[in-house]
Amino acid sequence: MHDLIIIGGGPAGLTAGMYAARSKLNVVMLEKMMPGGNVSITAEVENYPGTPNIGGPELVTQMENQARSFGLEIKSEEVLSIEVGAGTNGHTIKSDSGEYKTKSILIATGSSPRRIGCNGEEEHIGRGVSYCATCDGAFFRDKHVAVIGGGDSAVEEGLYLTKFAKRVTIIHRRDKLRATKIIQEKAAKHPKIDFIWDSVVEAIEGTPAVNNIKIKNIKTNEITDFKVDGVFVFVGYMPGTGFVPSIISKDEGGYIITDKEMRTNVPGIFAAGDITDKKQRQIVTACGDAATAIKTIEHYNEWYFEDEQYL
Ligand SMILES: Cc1cc2nc3c(=O)[nH]c(=O)nc-3n(C[C@H](O)[C@H](O)[C@H](O)COP(=O)(O)OP(=O)(O)OC[C@H]3O[C@@H](n4cnc5c(N)ncnc54)[C@H](O)[C@@H]3O)c2cc1C
Repeated sequence: MHDLIIIGGGPAGLTAGMYAARSKLNVVMLEKMMPGGNVSITAEVENYPGTPNIGGPELVTQMENQARSFGLEIKSEEVLSIEVGAGTNGHTIKSDSGEYKTKSILIATGSSPRRIGCNGEEEHIGRGVSYCATCDGAFFRDKHVAVIGGGDSAVEEGLYLTKFAKRVTIIHRRDKLRATKIIQEKAAKHPKIDFIWDSVVEAIEGTPAVNNIKIKNIKTNEITDFKVDGVFVFVGYMPGTGFVPSIISKDEGGYIITDKEMRTNVPGIFAAGDITDKKQRQIVTACGDAATAIKTIEHYNEWYFEDEQYL
């Protein structure tokens, strides 16, 4: 039986993997894609302490190498289900290529971009609709793109898109941005960026690629056509909990509820990073959660599986 299976290889999973491997736990990480999580699609990270202006992919490659240097084993597998075990039998994880028995589980599956939910969105994914400026920005050299959203991700990625696009229009449902002040100021001053306020996208059109969107002003209900070549959507995230059993408590948004030691309501199952119910979803908080979780997991495994009164 493993001491610990970590599900997800973003900053939370990689930090947990480094701490666990360094503590000599018998640990395996299961990651459905490449390790790195959402940071691998982030152009530039300015706010991770000690690494000013580092590229997201570079930062997570360093995290991965550091974790592997302590012996972390990373397997490319998608977790499909968790069976909660009884007593000291441990829990069972089923993936697309295997089954694992483990004393403890750390769920670090983060979140994925939320859709706008308008007509034409799904069929234009990869044909002008994107959720990742780092991945797709270069396809829009000298084009006009719309960025949907008003938070940090929308504005930061809008700024990044100015490297390629000739014009970036940020469309936001409110009359002011939610993004951090310093990022707002950069965007407001940028000659390639303009804004459309109080507006939502009703439809994305074009055959086969995007060439128009229908925008509704939510104050006047007026719908207008707006010619664009691409639409980048940053309207929040959905927690990656599809495989998580319903016995594990979640908040109304579907995020896993933990205590401050990163325990869920099920003994032996812990969560860290963006998947948890918290206010600040950032790299630094994901890493902090993970370090806390490993300390708690070490205590849990010793207490529950090695203390004689529980055997
Ligand atoms: C565009 C963008 C820009 C950002 N910019 C910044 C920034 O500048 N600074 C900052 O601090 N934060 C930034 N963030 C936020 C930051 O990326 C997240 O807070 C951080 O990645 C959370 O890490 P995590 O490990 O919890 O989750 P994630 O990074 O989401 O990683 C989760 C991992 O779990 C894997 N996974 C999911 N389901 C399964 C499954 N069933 N089986 C196996 N693996 C699974 C996923 O493939 C993924 O690799 C940005 C986010 C985005 C999207």
